[in-house]
Amino acid sequence: MANNEDQFKKVVSHAKEYGYIFASSEIYDGLSAVYDYAQNGVELKKNIREYWWRSMVYMHQNIVGIDSAILMHPTTWKASGHVDAFNDPLIDNKDSKKRYRADVLIEDYAEKIYQKAQKEIEKAKVRFGESFDEEQYCATNERVVNYLAENRRILERMGKSLGNEDLADVKALIDELGIADPETGSKNWTEVRQFNLMFGTKLGASAESAMDLYLRPETAQGIFVNFLNVQKSGRMKIPFGIAQTGKAFRNEIVARQFIFRMREFEQMEMQFFVRPGEELKWYEYWKETRLKWHLSLGMGEENYRFHDHEKLAHYANAAADIEFNFPFGFKELEGIHSRTDFDLKAHEKFSGKKLQFFDPELNESYVPYVVETSIGLDRMFLAVLSNSLQDETLEDGSVRTVLKLPAILAPVKAAVLPLVKKDGLPEIAQKIIDELQWDYNVIYDEKDAVGRRYRRQDAAGTPFCITVDHQTIEDNTVTIRYRDTMEQERIKIEEISEKMKETISYKNWLSE
Ligand code: ATP
Repeated sequence: MANNEDQFKKVVSHAKEYGYIFASSEIYDGLSAVYDYAQNGVELKKNIREYWWRSMVYMHQNIVGIDSAILMHPTTWKASGHVDAFNDPLIDNKDSKKRYRADVLIEDYAEKIYQKAQKEIEKAKVRFGESFDEEQYCATNERVVNYLAENRRILERMGKSLGNEDLADVKALIDELGIADPETGSKNWTEVRQFNLMFGTKLGASAESAMDLYLRPETAQGIFVNFLNVQKSGRMKIPFGIAQTGKAFRNEIVARQFIFRMREFEQMEMQFFVRPGEELKWYEYWKETRLKWHLSLGMGEENYRFHDHEKLAHYANAAADIEFNFPFGFKELEGIHSRTDFDLKAHEKFSGKKLQFFDPELNESYVPYVVETSIGLDRMFLAVLSNSLQDETLEDGSVRTVLKLPAILAPVKAAVLPLVKKDGLPEIAQKIIDELQWDYNVIYDEKDAVGRRYRRQDAAGTPFCITVDHQTIEDNTVTIRYRDTMEQERIKIEEISEKMKETISYKNWLSE
């Protein structure tokens, strides 16, 4: 995958052209960092959600799902710490009037230094060949040692300053490093300020009785406040998990990366309740399990990496991100956090209700510890879309644009194409659709020459094309064409469904 702006632009325009994503209220020039999912996008999004849900809920006997409301009692957000501490440090450039997140400016700067070290390592790999020992090289090559140390120093200092809410030092660090506005090069910065990310709204009609509410900034709290309801009604025993997918809202300071950072987005979260003292074991388990889930989609092991947090949130005793190689570099895709008993204890305190589990094996009650896995559905969508979009040069020198989506996630699984619009071929194609649509989302297409239809389906990400021609009338066979290899095969109409199942079965994908 090309690691550059052009590739990113291509992804954005392809998403619109092929009915994946539109800007929200586009006829009014859109709304910043808010997007609509189009006819193909809604299917891809649903399929990613389904892939996650099945692996979490159906594949774990001790995990159940819920769907809690977006609006919650406002005290929830007092207890969770969001009212007081859900802030991002923002900084404005006085010349360009552009607003940035101070921590992101610093992280990007540190990443550039890290990439310098990576470049040296890559060069050395080529130079030394088989005998190359990366660990030793990183420990002894002066330049690499310095780059890595500098990267660490910056991130540690930032982590410490943010942890101590020492915003003056965050500003000082930006000045010391000479960080400039990425768009204009200006170094004329304001001070760093905190900005709360929650959207406020009101419940009730009259001004006096209206209650101040927030749109939830994460789905997790809906799980915590229902912890005991689920435990009791489901007779759950620790360890167990509660999963949920749904909308979350954040008034992000900067939102310039398409659906990577949205103001209205969807999360897929799972909170796993464990015995106190066992949380780090489960934290490791979930780190590994979640990475395996990502790898099962076959989007390249080299495109994922863990990033262990220097600065831990107020509720966590261990935290890591799974980062993905987006067209604009490695960025957080999913977070795995050991949240201790912070949330449940806080809700006990603010509600005055006990949120404890009686452990029959230990014969004692306790507030469970929690390990959370939290992934942005839209971010996952972007990862899948940007990784799948490829320009392939064919043998005859022509270029085909193909969206190599993991077949299990593809919006449309097959297009059924009559070779010509006559001789009874459309009717046969329709019959095939009538049968396949019980199991798959399939479409009919009769417009243009068949070669062009293939290309259109390649670009839309459809894994199979099924072509009905004159031979079909004679022997009941069709041509099945595979998107990725462009190979074609003649099979019986009755075999189509089985053939597709070989490629599109949750069992095959999830057990990878
Ligand atoms: P970031 O550092 O990128 O702001 P975060 O650490 O605040 O993310 P979490 O609070 O851990 O994110 O949320 C869990 C997941 O939700 C993230 O890994 C990401 O995939 C997704 N997510 C968070 N904020 C957004 C957003 N504004 N738009 C889209 N997805 C988001």
